[in-house]
Amino acid sequence: MATPTPVSRVVWVNGPIVVGAGPAGLSVAACLRARGVPCVVLDRADCVASLWQRRTYDRLRLHLPRGFCQLPGMPFPDHYPEYPTKRQFVDYLEAYAARAGVQPRFNQAVTAARYDGKAGLWRVRAVDVSEPEAKTQTATEYIGRWLVVATGENAERVVPDFDGAADFGGPVSHVSEYKSGEAYSGKRVLVVGCGNSGMEVCLDLCDHNALPSMVVRDSVHVLPREVFGVATFSVAVFLLRFLPLWLVDRVLVLLAWLFLGDLDKLGIRRPSGAGPLELKNTRGRTPVLDIGALARIRSGDIRVVPGIKRFFRGGAELVDGTRVAADAVILATGYHSNVPQWLKGSDFFTQEGYPRVPFPDGWKGESGLYSVGFTRRGLSGVSSDAVKVAQDIAMAWEQQTSTTTR
Ligand SMILES: Cc1cc2nc3c(=O)[nH]c(=O)nc-3n(C[C@H](O)[C@H](O)[C@H](O)COP(=O)(O)OP(=O)(O)OC[C@H]3O[C@@H](n4cnc5c(N)ncnc54)[C@H](O)[C@@H]3O)c2cc1C
Repeated sequence: MATPTPVSRVVWVNGPIVVGAGPAGLSVAACLRARGVPCVVLDRADCVASLWQRRTYDRLRLHLPRGFCQLPGMPFPDHYPEYPTKRQFVDYLEAYAARAGVQPRFNQAVTAARYDGKAGLWRVRAVDVSEPEAKTQTATEYIGRWLVVATGENAERVVPDFDGAADFGGPVSHVSEYKSGEAYSGKRVLVVGCGNSGMEVCLDLCDHNALPSMVVRDSVHVLPREVFGVATFSVAVFLLRFLPLWLVDRVLVLLAWLFLGDLDKLGIRRPSGAGPLELKNTRGRTPVLDIGALARIRSGDIRVVPGIKRFFRGGAELVDGTRVAADAVILATGYHSNVPQWLKGSDFFTQEGYPRVPFPDGWKGESGLYSVGFTRRGLSGVSSDAVKVAQDIAMAWEQQTSTTTR
């Protein structure tokens, strides 16, 4: 086991320590500041919203309509389209942080956080990663009364092990490194995964004259992004006001049949049991919102293939025994939370890095521990957590300051 970097500095934080400067960390910090509570925000990256700035492809737009994606206290500018581009979303987040006066401490990778029961304080160790090649790194220990976990559901890449992967010989990358299909023009690309990212990367590859094959191992719910000009997500949210979730799920599946047809013929199986919303809530499996990939599958520009059995030099053998040739592989295999790697001595989070207590009560733990952005409900879940967490901490803060000033 590697020895931890020795602490060279100790910082007392007057207020909560927030780990993560993505939408979740920024929104909780803004809500805290609006209530007069100072805080320190730490992030391992060198910018806010590093997932959006550093680990997403160029053509990305918000998957959901903007009304469901804005953070507490600041709407999107009026001129923004219904589905803002990645650049617009990042601009919005930067403006959001600036307006709220949130100035995260960057290049601070949190490697351990532990509650010191005797002192009644959180001790958070962060390593300065501004110079990753440096021989000696410095670590700071931040000490404070509250800890807010905002490191996100997408903190680390999922990279599956495949038999024969070392034999493949061509470039293998994760979708988080993909920017555009330009570099793949004329190449046969095996895209592993059929979520929103996998489908959209295939579409982008087609637009750049590459030849994508999409590996579809599991069943997946694919929904039209819009029905008669109305966002399918808005339809679902509206129906949930009157109908139980299982019934809304049935309506969504029916709409998918009517608008997208039988996808089985294309090699895409719909899950037989749980509906799209239930699967999202219980297993975090986001339904795909089709923005054009299905049409390219129908036209033959994107080939759908079953799961991979093993790789060989220049291609892969599939579970049905067929072989597919490939010049490059892109793994659109998702992400996972990293909380268990650094939050020690607390059983608030599961081994998978999600709060053990289910939604809507998973935002508050014991001893001043909080979580924002782990409800599998995207940015609207982030916002509602942030408001609740800031409110709760502000109450404790007011109590504490009124006793100390008395
Ligand atoms: C391609 C893609 C498209 C999406 N589109 C939408 C959409 O349209 N609508 C929607 O609602 N949701 C969408 N999502 C879901 C997405 O999770 C949220 O949009 C949002 O980014 C979540 O914010 P967050 O702050 O919780 O997590 P993140 O944005 O991941 O931010 C977490 C931050 O924590 C930092 N961090 C992690 N570990 C550490 C550590 N140990 N120490 C210090 N810092 C650390 C990271 O550097 C990062 O900056 C999308 C996700 C992806 C991947």
